Amino acid sequence: MAADEMVSREAVTGLIEEFLATSPGNNLGDGSGEVAWDSVLVGFAAGTDPLWQQYKEYVGAFHWTPWEVFNQHYRGEPVSAAELTVISWVLPQRRLVRQANRRAREFPAEEWARIRVYGEECNAALRRHVAASLSAAGHPAIAPMLAANWTIVNSQRFSYASSWSERHAAYAAGLGTFGLCDGLITARGKAMRLGSVVAKIALPPTPRSYTGHHDYCLFYSNGTCGKCIGRCPVAAISPAGHDKEKCRLHLARSREYVRESYNFSGYGCGLCQVGVPCEAGIPVKAARQALERGDVPPPPPPIA
Ligand code: SF4
Ligand code: SF4
Repeated sequence: MAADEMVSREAVTGLIEEFLATSPGNNLGDGSGEVAWDSVLVGFAAGTDPLWQQYKEYVGAFHWTPWEVFNQHYRGEPVSAAELTVISWVLPQRRLVRQANRRAREFPAEEWARIRVYGEECNAALRRHVAASLSAAGHPAIAPMLAANWTIVNSQRFSYASSWSERHAAYAAGLGTFGLCDGLITARGKAMRLGSVVAKIALPPTPRSYTGHHDYCLFYSNGTCGKCIGRCPVAAISPAGHDKEKCRLHLARSREYVRESYNFSGYGCGLCQVGVPCEAGIPVKAARQALERGDVPPPPPPIA
């Protein structure tokens, strides 16, 4: 992206797609030649979206608004929230990765664990590339997850939470809603990874086709499903939701398994993200159709 080039949502999406298509780092780290990511969904949220303040109030004061994270980083040129756009993306897990992890019963399949390490390295490089490219084109930008002061804090309500949540950024950018297991269900399902960048750039936000933060989950929409409950090997999901501490401990245990079984340093799980109706799409028919029609309901109520 050349300096002063006219920037549009399409141009930013093209920048991301081109990186994935050409980056030598887009692979599983096993010499197989398989790419980690072969498609992407991109959404945009306004820096002035009231959701950012609601997150701050609901998740905790430590959770950054786009304005906060941008101005922490670019102290020399303060900007208003109205000048900022959050660019959020979804990297859907490939079929071969999902299929492999469907067979897993306790610890992740090798492909899934490789994505968690090497696919995420590619995602981090993508964050850096988008921020650097936009900055070079005259639109200073920062990837909040890569900010030096991004941190995880203990939270009374959530066990732990972080200064910036990719899932909440994606929700704001119209990319999906939360499921019973806490994962974000997107148009390409829940088996995916997310990234985002905050940029000083004026782009129209992506309309949110949902009204509630659980609209895409069958359990919350009509009381059915709950398939992710049975997929979790450590009972970290129940009708009451997701026990983050049980999940975290299982992820920690997976390190030994990955090292001994697959001979690299990694970890992961994601069993609840596959073999379920929301694995690769939106399982709630009405919500899926609303998205396909491009319905834009009134602004959603506060996350609660
Ligand atoms: S598996 Fe079912 S209950 Fe669990 S998040 Fe997906 S749709 Fe919701
Ligand atoms: S909730 Fe955590 S431990 Fe349970 S299946 Fe999902 S990722 Fe694994």
